[in-house]
Amino acid sequence: MLKVLAVPAFEDNYLWLIHNGEFAAVVDPGDAAPILTALDDMRLRLVAILLTHHHSDHVGGVAELKRRFKVPVYGPQESRIAEITIAVDQNDIVHLPELCLELIVLKVPGHTLTHIAYHSQTEHWLFCGDTLFGAGCGRLFEGTPSQMYESLQKLASLADNTEVYCAHEYTLANLKFAEAVEQGNAAVRERIANEQAKRSRNLPTVPSSIGLEKATNPFLRCNEPEVQARVRSLNPSYGNDGLAIFTALREWKNVFC
Ligand code: ZN
Ligand code: FE
Repeated sequence: MLKVLAVPAFEDNYLWLIHNGEFAAVVDPGDAAPILTALDDMRLRLVAILLTHHHSDHVGGVAELKRRFKVPVYGPQESRIAEITIAVDQNDIVHLPELCLELIVLKVPGHTLTHIAYHSQTEHWLFCGDTLFGAGCGRLFEGTPSQMYESLQKLASLADNTEVYCAHEYTLANLKFAEAVEQGNAAVRERIANEQAKRSRNLPTVPSSIGLEKATNPFLRCNEPEVQARVRSLNPSYGNDGLAIFTALREWKNVFC
């Protein structure tokens, strides 16, 4: 039986450890120390490292883990992560025989130009790094709004029961923005209560699901009339298509507090 363990790191990162009680694969080990501790505590042997993008809070622990374990390092086709041993592209399959697990690679540019995500069709898991967050999405450091919009639509097209393992605990702050965008969305209000209850017990709000994100994440709701009306109330010159609304929402979120 496969499990996914959230390993907290830094201020608000989650490093994801996929394991079967004997072997483990880690997604985005920004720090080696908490992963080494978790492997030790649970007597797991690391068999693979999977990376979504080159930011240091996602790759900072790779060199140290590689020194200790001779394991493949999967990641996007780019030269910025020297430790990658197997570069992967859209629809490539990462096969982890020790875990009897296959993950399909999705290209999701926007936060960075070469950002990828990993999807398990059998476990219904999505490891999406800094692309889709609980009730939000990553900042556009390298990509265009149109690239990010397409990437988010690609993720939104996965089955509603897909569990969304993103890399940061940003959900409550994102929901504040979601509420400002859609005051009339009861699912947003309900989610705020649920996620606050989890955070007050120090539990992660992640994973969420594609279905929940589609109901509460404004960045996946750019074609909803209420979202469009709200954005256009701020500036009537905004176009009414999903991409124009997404672009306006992303800019608004950058200055929202
Ligand atoms: Zn990042
Ligand atoms: Fe990050």
